[in-house]
Parts: sequence; C-alpha cells; structure tokens
Amino acid sequence: MTLTTSPNRPQRIAALGFDYAAQPKEWVRDCNLCGATTFVVLNRRDRYGYPAQANACNRCGLVFLNPRMTAEAYGRFYDGIYRPLVSAYHGRLIDAQTVQDEQREYAADREQFVRPFMVSGGSPPGGSQDPPLRTMLDIGGSTGVVAGHFANAFGLTATLIDPAPLEIAQAKQFGIETITGLVEAHDFGDRRFDLVLICQTVDHLLDIAGTLKKVRELLTERGLLFIDIVDFRAAYLRNWSVDEAIKIDHPFYLTEQTMPAYLRRAGFDVLRTDYAADHLHVSYICRGADPDRGVLPEPAAVAEMFREIRFVRNAPRP
Ligand SMILES: [Zn+2]
Repeated sequence: MTLTTSPNRPQRIAALGFDYAAQPKEWVRDCNLCGATTFVVLNRRDRYGYPAQANACNRCGLVFLNPRMTAEAYGRFYDGIYRPLVSAYHGRLIDAQTVQDEQREYAADREQFVRPFMVSGGSPPGGSQDPPLRTMLDIGGSTGVVAGHFANAFGLTATLIDPAPLEIAQAKQFGIETITGLVEAHDFGDRRFDLVLICQTVDHLLDIAGTLKKVRELLTERGLLFIDIVDFRAAYLRNWSVDEAIKIDHPFYLTEQTMPAYLRRAGFDVLRTDYAADHLHVSYICRGADPDRGVLPEPAAVAEMFREIRFVRNAPRP
C-alpha cells in the first residue's frame, strides 16, 4: 500500500478515491436497542468529511449511522479501504502489521483487568474448587495479538473469528484456530466458550442486539464476556465536535448508558467496569444472567445527552 504523504488531511483522504456517497446503503427503521422508531439527526459529515449522518434514538439515546452501508459494502470497505483510510486520517501507515504493537500494549493492559475473574470465571466468589476456564472465542479478533496473549497468559485454547482475510492471515501465525467470517452468520454447532472477547469491535457490528444474543448462547455456564466501547460522550467532548466523533467505520456509538442496557437485556451481569487510561474506552467484564428485557437508559440521562450534544454543536469550544 502506498500512502499519500501530503501534510493536508483532506488531500490524503481524497487521494484514496473512495466514493462514500455512491456506496449501497440501507435505512435503519427500528432502534437496535429499544425498538423505537423516532430518531434525531445529530450531524451532516463525519470526521473524514464524508456525508455520513448519525441518528440518536429519541427514547433510549442509542446513536448509530443512518443510512449506513449494506453488509456487502462494509465487507468491501474492510477488505480494501478501512486501514488506508485510517492511515490517511492519522497521516501515518496503519495496517495489519503496524497495528500489532498497539494491540500488544492493549492486550497486556486488558489481561490485568480480566485476571481477577479468571480463576472461578462467572461463579460466585469462593468457587476456587472449579476447574480453570479453558476455551476462548475472540470476536473481531483482528491479527490475533490479543487472542494469542490471552491464550498464553491464562492457558486457554483460542479461536478467532474476523471478516478481514488480511488480518486472519496474520492471526494464523500465532497458532490459534481462525474463522474468516462474521459471528452472526457462523454456525458454531454445539461449541461453547469459557471466555468471549469483543475487543474494540462492538462499534463495528451491524446488529449489536443480535450478536450479544448469539454470544450469550455461546457462553458456558461459568463463562465470561469481555467487551469494550469507545465512549461516544468522551469522543465528542474531547474534540468538542459531534462530527469528529462520527466515522463511517463505526455503525454504532455506545455510551455508559446504552452499553450496560444492551448487556442486561441480552442476559449479562456486569462484574466490573474500567475506564481506560486514554479517557476514551470503557471496558466491561460480565457473566451470564437471566435477560432483563425491560432495562433501558434512564430518561433523564437520555435528555441530558441530547442537551449536551446541542451545547457542543452550538457553543464555542471552552
Ligand atoms: Zn432506542
């Protein structure tokens, strides 16, 4: 891959020749979290300058691209344009090779967060008689750095599923089982996993509710789920811009209200929440529980987010 070295970000992005407006798209009719059908348009352009609009659900505050590219268009996007686009945005080469340093650091940090729960899994405290957790599934596992690290650190047998063939090719070098595809579409038969990782991936999914439902079914009785989000609120406050917090690679934008609601509704209890050192990511370690389909973000918190977004859009940067 060649990288246009223009010091000008819009020129670097334009040099990729990606025509976002011409990509096949579909409208989102129902909120993926609560099912409501009335939305608020938050922006006109994304951080790359593409005409991508995010909507927020009037009832629960879930934020998502609408319209958004079809699954097929996203498939092509990840196969060719995604890494070059992120490289052009940041002005440095980011590919399946170079992301691995960052992923190693991330893996070591997340290992520390997960470690206290790895003895007894999702069993109540005191369950140290239980056999150790043995199997792991990394969803959207990219180049396998994180899966390989966790497998070594905790003695787990790792399986990785990712739609990007280039990243899967890198992952094979760690000797872990790889599946090229999407977890929503893949048939795992009667296989179950003691630990499921959804690392820096949930915002890229096209159906979060459907994926979490599937993950819940894939978890063993003592199984754990690790999942993390880019906190949308942190992203727009950091940049003092809603446009800068929106990017076509993320169909969804989660918050500290919407992600826990998703988890409770899908049948997960959050055991511990962690705020990353970058002040942008929030991580959750969860165990299986009975789904609570009634849980939604508090209306007052949703109203506060809308108020804050209007303020960030209209008020000068402090
Ligand atoms: Zn909603």
